[in-house]
Amino acid sequence: MIKLKRIKCKIDLKSIKKLLPFPYNTEADSSDLEVIFAGVSEKKRLLNKHAWGLKFIGNDTFRGFSNKYGPMNPMGLIVVFVEEFDTTDSLRWILCHELTHYEVGYSPSLYRAFKNLHSKYIKEVENKLNKKWCTKIYLKDNIHDNEPEEILCDQVATAIVGENYGRKWWRKQLRKQKCGN
Ligand SMILES: [Zn+2]
Repeated sequence: MIKLKRIKCKIDLKSIKKLLPFPYNTEADSSDLEVIFAGVSEKKRLLNKHAWGLKFIGNDTFRGFSNKYGPMNPMGLIVVFVEEFDTTDSLRWILCHELTHYEVGYSPSLYRAFKNLHSKYIKEVENKLNKKWCTKIYLKDNIHDNEPEEILCDQVATAIVGENYGRKWWRKQLRKQKCGN
């Protein structure tokens, strides 16, 4: 069952409910999943509270996250951050992206495969940059978006929504917002 909740953001629960149902069948339905839609002012607090291993380094480095590791966290959690410029489709895109991370975490074969690919990718990046892997590097757009699991999540979200609302779209909106103020 998916529970929806909102924290300090302009989108109301009625609009959030319109994001579901959509054509997405979760395999991980044996455990409850909570989805929180929160305003960007909540980013630091919610990341520090719920996302292990990720250090907060700024509002403009991520748009959502999922706590996907079932055995460690029997209650699954996805947090989607809502910007002023977000639309139903862009929010649906982030939700589908995070749901795909969640699916990978709950499928033993997918989890193993992507963990392997992740380790290989980390090594490649570390060798190339001659630096140790850290949140700061990972959250850079070109590095984040080329990580195998991120590519999968982007592709699934784009296939479901019909348009790519990935980081390129997000950056464009952030620039427009900055210019407008
Ligand atoms: Zn992701």
